[in-house]
Amino acid sequence: MTIDDENYANEMAKRVLRVEERIAAACTSARRDRSSVQLLAVSKGHGPERIQAAVDAGLHVFGENKVQEARAKIPLAPHNSQWHLIGHLQTNKIKFAVQLFDTVHSVDSLKLLRALNQGAEAAGVNLSVLLEVNVSGEASKYGLTPDAVPEVLEAAAQCFALDVVGLMTIPPFTEDPEGARPHFVRLRTLRDEWRESTGFPLEELSMGMSHDLEVAIEEGATWVRVGTDLFGKR
Ligand SMILES: *Cc1c(COP(=O)(O)O)cnc(C)c1O
Repeated sequence: MTIDDENYANEMAKRVLRVEERIAAACTSARRDRSSVQLLAVSKGHGPERIQAAVDAGLHVFGENKVQEARAKIPLAPHNSQWHLIGHLQTNKIKFAVQLFDTVHSVDSLKLLRALNQGAEAAGVNLSVLLEVNVSGEASKYGLTPDAVPEVLEAAAQCFALDVVGLMTIPPFTEDPEGARPHFVRLRTLRDEWRESTGFPLEELSMGMSHDLEVAIEEGATWVRVGTDLFGKR
């Protein structure tokens, strides 16, 4: 190991501890069990040595937002690591995505749901998926409008290679993490409605990133997606 690698490994170990402490504190203040929240380490923009350092520091589930980048990195990663796709998926990349990832957080259209199901069937794999919901209505964001979700869930009942396990959202950035709270509340409220109306349990809520993970956990997140506060700046 070079000095740089060693420093990075030390830094990484400290950052993992800090993020763990934040998650534990948020669980305590929300009276939730620590085991009800999982940490997705977002490694986009960082290379294989840094992923190895993260594995050495105890992380094992990683998130990438681009299939192309993931194709280059995942084969070099430790075999016991797991990979989730968190970015927009183009249908022409599905054949790679179904081989690389076991969970996709970013199903953002009915068309993608159906194509992903076909791709998973063709590859003989089963995928867990979350529907990405654009709860804020921001035009620049991917994600289903809340109105579109019931139809997608209806179609999902026929997608036998996919398990729809929950919902994901990315709120608009606000300096104050409290700005994200109403969007997290909305995702949880919609989940509760759709759980009633469709029978899908939708247990997973993927929400919260480096700067607002506490607020997300208070509002019911089961996956927090943390990049910068684990790996440093991209
Ligand atoms: C990059 C990214 C994250 C991580 O963001 P940080 O602010 O670096 O923690 C989380 N979710 C998605 C969808 C991302 O693209």
